[in-house]
Amino acid sequence: MTEKLYEKDAYIKEFTATVVECVKCEKLFKIALDKTAFFPEGGGQAADTGFFGLIKVFDTQLEDGIIYHYTKTPIEVGSAINGKIDFARRFNFMQNHTGEHIVSGIAHRLFGVNNVGFHLGEELVTIDFDKELTREQLDEIELFANQKVWQNLPVRAYFPNDSELKATNYRSKKEIDGAVRLVEIKDTDICACCAPHVNNTGEIGIIKLLDCEKMRGGIRIVLKCGAFALWDYRNKYENISRISALLSAKQENAAEAVEKQEEKCTMAKHDIYSLKRQIADLSVLSANADTIYLFVDGCELKILQIIADRMFKEFGGIKAAFSGSDNTYSFVMCGEDQALQEFFLKFKSQFSVRGGGRGGMVQGSVSATKDEIEEFLNS
Ligand SMILES: [Zn+2]
Repeated sequence: MTEKLYEKDAYIKEFTATVVECVKCEKLFKIALDKTAFFPEGGGQAADTGFFGLIKVFDTQLEDGIIYHYTKTPIEVGSAINGKIDFARRFNFMQNHTGEHIVSGIAHRLFGVNNVGFHLGEELVTIDFDKELTREQLDEIELFANQKVWQNLPVRAYFPNDSELKATNYRSKKEIDGAVRLVEIKDTDICACCAPHVNNTGEIGIIKLLDCEKMRGGIRIVLKCGAFALWDYRNKYENISRISALLSAKQENAAEAVEKQEEKCTMAKHDIYSLKRQIADLSVLSANADTIYLFVDGCELKILQIIADRMFKEFGGIKAAFSGSDNTYSFVMCGEDQALQEFFLKFKSQFSVRGGGRGGMVQGSVSATKDEIEEFLNS
């Protein structure tokens, strides 16, 4: 069994220890020490990384009570090492993790929901609750949670004896083998947990609930605490600043300004469509019985359909409308069905064509230059 220094003091950044085991594991080495401050992945929290002297520790895992540190270099059994964990990263996890306890405890106390799943990612936390919560309820939980931060309450982790444990009403995500370690936040939450936490809630800084989605009769919420919440705020502030500058709107009115912009875009699209309809009308007016095809700029298939169909209805024969640029053109062709199909077969044999159709209309796209298409149609 490895002595877990982080259980007694979550703030140990450096320590000395003795190597008791070193085994090769695929491309890495698994190193066990007599004691360690490296937290192994568990309880929803990611594994610590860091160094043994100059040797990097990539991962830390617990196996049957022994904590293994993964390195690329072996270290001789019996050697003394100087361990140093990446404490900035660990402290951010401690902020997120302790924030998760507060939110789960408050959600349980206020609305009777249970935390049935928890994941602490590299930047954010997700909590799955067994019942749905409204946005208003989540806002209430968020406010209460931050009040607990402002009160700077002590966070106590301890191993109670059997009678203490029996007398304590605590949250537990699963049946726990061995000694139960309780993490108690005064007047807020008591939960069985093996991970390191901050000593006082003030160290969390801020708790921000972000997205939520309904799932399996419950709800999954995403939250960020401390440094992660600050970076998120910084990123969002930068974005909202740019959006408000682009729209010449105050930041607090940015969403409204975007909605107005969207309305303008919809109206502009409508205007563009009506102009294209006018182009279609004028194009047809310019055609006569001898016209086989028309090239029009910037028109989608819907407009090409109108042009080809109206030319055919007016003059008969086979009529085609093209729009595009470079070597790719969209097209619509109209004609008596059989004659059109025969014509279209020839067209396809000449060029690289995608598309088809029946009932007197074919459409698609063709890879060819305007000159090549005109030469074919005029032949
Ligand atoms: Zn915990």
